[in-house]
Amino acid sequence: MKVDKMLKKDYLKNWDKEYFWHPFTQMKVYREEENIIIERGEGVYIYDIDGNRYIDGVASLWCNVHGHNHPKLNRALESQLKKIAHFTTLGASNVPATVFAKNLVDITPPKLTKVFYSEDGSEAMEIAIKIAYHYWHNRGEKQKTKFVTLSEAYHGDTIGSVSVGGINIFHEKYRPLLFDVYKMPSPYLEAVKKVGREKALEYGTTKMLIEEVEDFIFRNHQEIAGFVLEAGVQGAAGILPFPKGYLKEIRRICDEYNILMIVDEVATGFGRTGYMFACEKEGVEPDIMALGKGITGGYLPLAATLVTDEIFDQFLGEFGEAKHFYHGHTYTGNPLACSVAVANLEVFEEEQTLKKLQPKIKLLEERLKEFWDLKHVGDVRQYGFMAGIELVKDKKTKEPFPYGERTGFKVANYMIKKGVWVRPLGDVMVIMPPLVISEDELNYLIDVMKEGIQNLK
Ligand SMILES: *Cc1c(COP(=O)(O)O)cnc(C)c1O
Repeated sequence: MKVDKMLKKDYLKNWDKEYFWHPFTQMKVYREEENIIIERGEGVYIYDIDGNRYIDGVASLWCNVHGHNHPKLNRALESQLKKIAHFTTLGASNVPATVFAKNLVDITPPKLTKVFYSEDGSEAMEIAIKIAYHYWHNRGEKQKTKFVTLSEAYHGDTIGSVSVGGINIFHEKYRPLLFDVYKMPSPYLEAVKKVGREKALEYGTTKMLIEEVEDFIFRNHQEIAGFVLEAGVQGAAGILPFPKGYLKEIRRICDEYNILMIVDEVATGFGRTGYMFACEKEGVEPDIMALGKGITGGYLPLAATLVTDEIFDQFLGEFGEAKHFYHGHTYTGNPLACSVAVANLEVFEEEQTLKKLQPKIKLLEERLKEFWDLKHVGDVRQYGFMAGIELVKDKKTKEPFPYGERTGFKVANYMIKKGVWVRPLGDVMVIMPPLVISEDELNYLIDVMKEGIQNLK
């Protein structure tokens, strides 16, 4: 029995290396190293097939909210499974997708009243862009075909969402396949360059950055369909927060120049920033908002693009006018995913998730101060319950480690050995555990990350 079990594990590890091409993974390196195969999860912990336990330090890539194997989420799924797993929503509907659409409209900014489903964040953004373009087309303003985006933006990996993205190492190779966009500087990086780290996030900095943006929009607004940006923080770029008021200023500019504001809340939505949605922090209502990641509590692939009535109404017409939105996927509005999404929101209420999160955000803030003293830490950034710690070779000059040294992964590998699973963004260590993590577990995660960074030569 024991031998059988060991054999099974060896087969799995070999098959994993032999047949499974992993996302965002250099497979040559992956195949040379020990692979971890996860078997089950419980709360903030995951367990591999060898029986090792790890804290899920990045919430299974930023999507887990209430922990793994949550009884209420499991029940919702089981109960829906006994009814129906899937039926198309092209011209038909199902119960959970209908209920969840109503729930989403109730909790998102009031202007957003219509929900278009998809399966992941990239698609939600892709759909946002197509809707924005199509909206102006239907309104007869066919010259509005361009999008303004930010450097260092990340909106997903499909061709459309890569087109509006700005992370060179991921995106530059695909340039010949992408459509052209207008790119504004990354607010955080530009702020640091202009006024230094200390003052980067102040309101005064926003005013300065906005001048350049507004000047550009003033000159080009006739052809601009939408302004695309993340909701207050550029996540995949390494947790780069916007200076105070930036989002609000972009809202003002979009209103003034008749441009749709398209906000990507895929990473920030569902409590990650301490608010249900990050745009609440500045009281901003986008025209189009993309949701994903935490939408099902981290259970199943689901995403949504929300729009205003004003946008929706432009797609209404007689059938023969062909004004409708020609877009949909096989699994759009999947009942299993939507049923667990409904339960996800109920757990937010029942467990007072957002209220209990506030002291943990404070604790994170306090403990992050300790990292400034470490020899190889060049910057420390936090936005709600997400944090990025930037590792540099030289603290004074901020000279980075050579890319090939995989310094971030070295720290991550140390942490994994100590029972904390994390995945860095290059040399930025990310702290993004499930919202439900306890203070003790958070402290442990931070202790281990500190040790890992101190160990660097
Ligand atoms: C993760 C992410 C996406 C892409 O979502 P996928 O589900 O991975 O396709 C888009 N935008 C932001 C801000 C993200 O963090």
